[in-house]
Amino acid sequence: MSSRAMRSTTLEVVHPARAAAAAPVTPPFRLASRESQPGPTVVEAGCVAIGAGDLVVMAGPCSVESRRQIREAARAVKAAGAHMLRGGAYKPRTSPYDFQGLGHKALEWLAEAGRESGLPVVTEVLSPEDVDRVAEHADLLQVGARNMQNYALLRRLATAPRPVLLKRGPSATIQEWLLAAEYLLSGGNPKVVLCERGIRTFETAMRNTLDLAGVALVKQLTHLPVIVDPSHATGKRALVAPASRAAAAIGADGLLIEVHPCPECALSDGEQSLNPAQFAELMRALPLRTSAACG
Ligand code: PEP
Ligand code: MN
Repeated sequence: MSSRAMRSTTLEVVHPARAAAAAPVTPPFRLASRESQPGPTVVEAGCVAIGAGDLVVMAGPCSVESRRQIREAARAVKAAGAHMLRGGAYKPRTSPYDFQGLGHKALEWLAEAGRESGLPVVTEVLSPEDVDRVAEHADLLQVGARNMQNYALLRRLATAPRPVLLKRGPSATIQEWLLAAEYLLSGGNPKVVLCERGIRTFETAMRNTLDLAGVALVKQLTHLPVIVDPSHATGKRALVAPASRAAAAIGADGLLIEVHPCPECALSDGEQSLNPAQFAELMRALPLRTSAACG
């Protein structure tokens, strides 16, 4: 054997433990990982920066029910200090007999209420055909939990000119959630915000189980901002404030909270919606800095 061949043979004999320690471990969610980008991504939705260190609060009704309702909701959440307005126009409902949302006209009312109150808006887009229309009216496009693995929708949103709020699927592992984000990133949209909204477990006492430690873990695994939806995570109005405070304490970059001018009259998710006074009280208990607000 030539001395060169001997040298290369010797070099290949590395103790397996040392080899494992030296090999860089690339997670399957390459672009979302902290390995690919150690510093945080800041996502701008309209004039609001998400992931910049200040807690961002997005609030409003589950569904846009009328022009008057969304304007009232916008005024109330703005007065309490919210940074963005939420409201569903296209609603993914478990039952086809439940209120399905008012579609395009609700989208227009939502955009109008956002302009009037000076709040950027976030709303759900249900199907690839609606992406252009929703992007015209909204600052942040929500992918609902039921659609987290709708790859046709994710691929279409990867080329949309708007940031995306990607909710975690009710039964999705953290790796599946980050791989769904990877569809957006690898398809060309680097502006992705993740949202933990509760997962399905054996527990039936609450609508879902809020995976708070999962939020801390995901913050360690990815550079993308992570927010929490305490309304869908708990399903109970009385749990929204404590869950919000806990989310802020564990490092969430923001909150998505359902607020209705009259929760008892709501066409969807009234039992988990705060009224304006309850929302204002919660806002006073959160560690908010004024720098997250527009203007
Ligand atoms: C919502 O935000 O109104 C909603 C339908 O949420 P999720 O997709 O988390 O159920
Ligand atoms: Mn809802």
